[in-house]
Amino acid sequence: MKIHEYQAKEVLRRFGVVTPRGVPCFEADQAVAAAESLGGKVWVVKAQIHAGGRGKGGGVKVAKSLDEVREFANQIMGMQLVTHQTGPAGQKVRRLLIEEGADIRKEYYVAALTDRATQKVALMASSEGGMDIEEVAHNTPEKIIKVFVDPLIGLTDAQAKLLADGIGVPAASQAQAIDTFRKLYTCYMETDASLAEINPLILEGNGNIKALDAKFNFDSNALYRHEDIVAFRDLDEEDPAEIEASKFDLSYVSLDGNIGCLVNGAGLAMATMDVIKLYGAEPANFLDVGGGATTEKVTEAFKIMLRNPNVRGILVNIFGGIMRCDTIATGVVAAAREVHLTVPLVVRMKGTNEDLGKQILKDSGLPIISADSMADAAQKIVAAVAGH
Ligand code: ADP
Ligand code: MG
Repeated sequence: MKIHEYQAKEVLRRFGVVTPRGVPCFEADQAVAAAESLGGKVWVVKAQIHAGGRGKGGGVKVAKSLDEVREFANQIMGMQLVTHQTGPAGQKVRRLLIEEGADIRKEYYVAALTDRATQKVALMASSEGGMDIEEVAHNTPEKIIKVFVDPLIGLTDAQAKLLADGIGVPAASQAQAIDTFRKLYTCYMETDASLAEINPLILEGNGNIKALDAKFNFDSNALYRHEDIVAFRDLDEEDPAEIEASKFDLSYVSLDGNIGCLVNGAGLAMATMDVIKLYGAEPANFLDVGGGATTEKVTEAFKIMLRNPNVRGILVNIFGGIMRCDTIATGVVAAAREVHLTVPLVVRMKGTNEDLGKQILKDSGLPIISADSMADAAQKIVAAVAGH
């Protein structure tokens, strides 16, 4: 689960990380009042969406008067903000953060994240803050410093010092930087985050260290023990189809293609998407109905897939293990009837009660195309969509 920058900063502050003062707002009058209450002469008007790269897209503006605060708030609020993380359609801005302007001497990058290769938590830092870290990793990988944390020991002073030295924090500010790294690590661990990123972490003119931007990803499997974080959820930022799917315990991810896939098991779902691509088409979604799919679940899955206007055909690929093929077949037939399916449907099932399942599909009288192997299924759906 992701949260907004102003919420991320609130989480960081709970762990003692220093951030600029700021106020979240929903419209221009509030923004001006917020700037007045913050005081000072420079404010930053920041679009709040669940994507980075807002600065480059025109979603972060420095205002030098209250009139400018109003002007920028009006400009940014409601805009369709396009960044490298939103995709070409962009994301509508529905919230703003009005923040005191910081006196930036240097921008760094620091993040705590799960490193899959070492199966450890890594703290990663760079002197190249404020930029797209993927770009830094690609063009100048030597400017990224990583340490791997032993969970029994935690981030050691030596490791924190290594990071601070490695990114060039001046001696007078090192104690603050080291303190920030340790707090970031604690915050990451205690909130069950999978990413806690500060970009930029800044060195101010006066030598202080502050988190100027913050981004979190939380492990959704651990959210049950973080009510305070769940309260930050903003459904406006999430795909409606994915929200609907989560209500029925379906793992669903929207994609750009036109072949809907309904599969049991994440691995098989990935393989199904691959094989569709292999035969020249693109999947419209990833959908794992899980191990305990009922008729109701399958029906909901069909409804969710068909809400996507790009879907021109559906491929059902089921491995009948504990889940029996006849159960799935009954579900597929009921779902196809209930949604008055008009696009071609190819079903491939293997495993427990396979023959019974195939018979149910056949007896339904519905124009369901049966397939044997994965390759056969993919070729049949690609051909059916092309000819439909
Ligand atoms: P994003 O990463 O989405 O572009 P940031 O919050 O990192 O958004 O802002 C982009 C840039 O805007 C920062 O790198 C920094 O240079 C500037 N900026 C952001 N917040 C402030 C602030 N409070 N004071 C001064 N400059 C800021
Ligand atoms: Mg940033």
